[in-house]
Amino acid sequence: MADSQAVPARKKSGGHIWILVGLIAGICCGLVAHSVKAGGGSGEAAVMNLIAFTEPIGKLFLRLMQMVVLPLVFSALFLAVVDVGDLRKLGRIGLMTLFFTAILSFSAVMIGVTLVNVVKPGKSLSKETEKTLIEKYSEKASEGVAKANASKTLGQTLVDLLPENPIQEMAGAVDGSSKGNGMLAVMFFALLAGIAATVKPDDCSTLVGTLRGMYEISMTIIGWALKLAPFGAGCLVFGVTATMGTDILKALIVFVAVVIGGLLIHLLVIYSAVIAIFGKMSPLTFFRKVSDAMFVAFSTSSSSATLSTSLKVAHEELKLTPETANFVLTVGATGNQNGTALFEGIVVLFLAQVFGIDLSINQQITVVLMSVLAGVGTAGVPGGSIPLIIVVLKSVGVPADGIAIILGVDRILDMSRTLVNVVGDLVVASCVDASMKAKS
Ligand code: ASP
Repeated sequence: MADSQAVPARKKSGGHIWILVGLIAGICCGLVAHSVKAGGGSGEAAVMNLIAFTEPIGKLFLRLMQMVVLPLVFSALFLAVVDVGDLRKLGRIGLMTLFFTAILSFSAVMIGVTLVNVVKPGKSLSKETEKTLIEKYSEKASEGVAKANASKTLGQTLVDLLPENPIQEMAGAVDGSSKGNGMLAVMFFALLAGIAATVKPDDCSTLVGTLRGMYEISMTIIGWALKLAPFGAGCLVFGVTATMGTDILKALIVFVAVVIGGLLIHLLVIYSAVIAIFGKMSPLTFFRKVSDAMFVAFSTSSSSATLSTSLKVAHEELKLTPETANFVLTVGATGNQNGTALFEGIVVLFLAQVFGIDLSINQQITVVLMSVLAGVGTAGVPGGSIPLIIVVLKSVGVPADGIAIILGVDRILDMSRTLVNVVGDLVVASCVDASMKAKS
């Protein structure tokens, strides 16, 4: 949300086609390498050398993102609150926006978490592949299993939402050694600090400016990382397919189906119900009117880049009150990302399944809460959710490097979840507008 008002919408990077090329090349070379490796002998040794060479390149790409996760999360959530300003001043529009954002985000994550628990896409791997994966990431995977076993009571989990020592919690959130709730506690700290800053805006303007700078630096570094994406993601996918062959691809197909299924349920069932009940509009009419924004969101993979089209649709097609539409859509372009929240929940639980980590109910609750907050903290740019997913993975002890497994298919999922994000903003804007009109 942080870039909603202060930071202009970023342009499409234009490098997407290269990411696709890098990934396809990575998968094809990986599959060839896998069959060469299966033949044993000098071929196997050559493939192992190649994997050892490409792995650090892929990891450098991930490191660039991991490096800025902490400043990014803290500044994004802090600025998200500061940019909304004093909720009391914004009055009914602000509260209604918060209300619809909260229910839509929660329902999105719950759909994702339920589907992934029922279908279990991460369990479709053969025993052999699962073993290879766990060996590859053994240290981190066993840390995760240990974390899952050392589950806390619900009461303690709630108390730990507030960090006893925020600095310690920040360091622990990054290296996985946190005793409390790690990044979730950092997120709550950022939200509370943001709320406190809105009480004395004049005294805090220097800090707000500094955090805006920190946010911009983080986003710039992520932009550099994404420039390396064709090569970095290609190398990561090469390593994964060369080690595991087609087996991992099958699991990924089921994973993609679960994500698309979840997004469709949220889009067609939840949005339709909410728009009919609270927006007082026929869902069919609504979808017809917002189709331009859907198209732009799908093709740009960026809620921020779609903002101008969403505003146009809200004014000209949906005929919403300009003040309401401007506020809700600007804040929502990065603050209300239902598709992203749903996706984040699914990725974390999918990777936990892949690594054979049974998350306790408390950890699943942590995933739900963090996914909702991550949906708020995610920038509305292509791949904006990746750094946040790393955060959630770390906090529940799932090896963060495992994200390499899903990066290969992220492009199409990013397009789809961005569409759901943008329609979600228009749903909230329509509902808030209807409730404001009903009151006046
Ligand atoms: N691309 C998404 C958006 O702009 C964010 C993400 O899920 O990566 O809405």
